Amino acid sequence: MTAQHSHNRSDADDGRTHEHPQIRVDDVSKIYQSESGPVEALADVNFDVGHGEFVSIVGPSGSGKSTVFRIIAGLEAATEGAVLVDGDPVTEPGPDRGMVFQDDALFPWRTVAGNVAYGLEEVGPPEGFTTEERVDYCLELVGLTDKADAYPRELSGGQRQRVGIARALAVDPPILLMDEPFGSVDARTKTSLHRELLDIWMETEKTICFVTHDIEEAVYLSDRIVVFSTAPGTVLDVISVDLPRPRDRTGDEFTEIKADVLAYFEDEE
Ligand code: ADP
Ligand code: MG
Repeated sequence: MTAQHSHNRSDADDGRTHEHPQIRVDDVSKIYQSESGPVEALADVNFDVGHGEFVSIVGPSGSGKSTVFRIIAGLEAATEGAVLVDGDPVTEPGPDRGMVFQDDALFPWRTVAGNVAYGLEEVGPPEGFTTEERVDYCLELVGLTDKADAYPRELSGGQRQRVGIARALAVDPPILLMDEPFGSVDARTKTSLHRELLDIWMETEKTICFVTHDIEEAVYLSDRIVVFSTAPGTVLDVISVDLPRPRDRTGDEFTEIKADVLAYFEDEE
């Protein structure tokens, strides 16, 4: 296993590779108190995400991916440990972290433009923009300018996810947190969303932390992949994907890295 990974894994198994990361997940454990007793969701999770980096978290269902996502987002508190963003502990959601969920969570009674504008209502548009200009810019980024006045029910699943991305980008957060955002779109749409997301990432220079159980998706998109074990989630490995973009999903190296990640889950069973 070690030899197999040596060409593409990072130096630090615990994922701490940056001196001043944008996000540091520092020894995070999470135990939920449920009616049927405590549920250990995360155990001593460490990894970090550098400024402008695209990092994916992959792991089987129930491995705590959404839990770590919610702790980074500030929607949930860690039982032990902390998440630091630019060195400061996260205690609540903030405009520095945009969120995109699998379920688009759009307001059905608002138009596409109205949904994107929602993100701006509390904090206002970024400097140099009016709300309208910012909405237009974000809709252009996701290719939905012509759908500005449509309602969510008039859109395809892929288009709704694009609106979700535009809404998250509206306040211009340095960080984009995404939890299986393409989990319920068809394969072909997913492929184009992947290309679009990478274009947006390059254009806007965001830091992206992307949760998925789709290994191919992670290899296609990411600079690094944090591999979670089955529950309770721990970091099994952090794999660097040093392949130029756009990536060839059928290429030898791509296939090899995919197999490297998959091997962890086969070992687990
Ligand atoms: P993933 O996103 O990788 O599928 P989750 O983070 O959703 O995993 O869940 C990890 C574990 O924590 C699972 O066993 C799940 O049932 C449990 N869990 C998640 N949320 C709660 C909650 N609010 N209360 C109790 N248990 C929870
Ligand atoms: Mg999940």
